[in-house]
Amino acid sequence: MILSKIISVIEAYAPLSLQESYDNAGLIIGNSKEYITKALICFDVTEDVIDEAIKIGANLIISHHPIIFGGLKKINGRNYVERIVIKAIKNDIALYAAHTNLDNIINGTNKILAEKLGLKNIKTLSPQAGMLNKLIVYVPLAHKEKVQQSLFDAGAGHIGNYDSCSFETQGTGTFRASEGSNPFVGSIGEIHKEDEIRLEIIFPSHLKGRIISALLSSHPYEEVAYDIYKIENKTNNIGAGIIGEMDVAEDELLFLKKVKKITSAKGIKHTDFLKKKVKKIAICGGSGAFLINKAKSAGADAYITGDIKYHEFFDADNSILIADIGHYESEQFTNTLLFSIIKEKIPTFAVQISDISTNPVNYL
Ligand SMILES: [Zn+2]
Repeated sequence: MILSKIISVIEAYAPLSLQESYDNAGLIIGNSKEYITKALICFDVTEDVIDEAIKIGANLIISHHPIIFGGLKKINGRNYVERIVIKAIKNDIALYAAHTNLDNIINGTNKILAEKLGLKNIKTLSPQAGMLNKLIVYVPLAHKEKVQQSLFDAGAGHIGNYDSCSFETQGTGTFRASEGSNPFVGSIGEIHKEDEIRLEIIFPSHLKGRIISALLSSHPYEEVAYDIYKIENKTNNIGAGIIGEMDVAEDELLFLKKVKKITSAKGIKHTDFLKKKVKKIAICGGSGAFLINKAKSAGADAYITGDIKYHEFFDADNSILIADIGHYESEQFTNTLLFSIIKEKIPTFAVQISDISTNPVNYL
């Protein structure tokens, strides 16, 4: 399997353009034109994981955390990052990471934990603004359905749990074709009037290339008149953290015990119990302290995350149950998610999840 194909499957699900500005997700080592015999999925790339890849004959490692994050100026093997980079290159192993681009989609990093907790009505906890565009295109009456369907098929017209969203108004378009043109209707040199539909439809900005090509291939005109605007609306499918509800409210202690069991967490650091049942649950896998206030304002009864510092626990302020279950524990299901993303689109490709737990934190 050519590496670019595997990358396109992952990035169709978690577009690289959705990663945070500080991140370094994507193809870190390797050439996308290389052929991959087998892929190994892990959480962090460690030297042990590279040994495992060598042992099973995998020449691609897909991780959640990117091994190179802040950049490298020298590669001497003085620290674990440099040693891993050297080892991967020497053994012809490509390294790819799906990090905050996987965090920032509603069906991403938090998806499997949310499913295991039985959360329903899932929404993004901190939806991003400025991720949407609006397309306005003028289509001759008889071709409206075809153009509209092709835009829907390319991913336009989704608002929350609704698809096929668009708006249309009818009017008259005018144009005059010059010498050398090949007009769909009308004659060269004469002003032509055509009944047209002004079709308005929104789409996530990362799909812009696909939307424009769907538009141009389905529209009958030689020169298609269209406008694309950036809009400020927040989109529910893109952003950090998620929030959802359990069917039945649960006792706080029993809920945390359930979380502990599902995640195999060795310990959970949590704020005072509020002596009420929990139903609305917010989750942000990884370092999620930045979303404590969002979880509170969204009305979450409990917030499950990792890497909460001492003073940040005070932010609960008796209005939410904050539970720090550990960075690794809160994000560990990215392995299963990446596996299923690849298997769904390329079922015959040899991919497997690493047997190694790369969690560097131990509990005494
Ligand atoms: Zn993380």
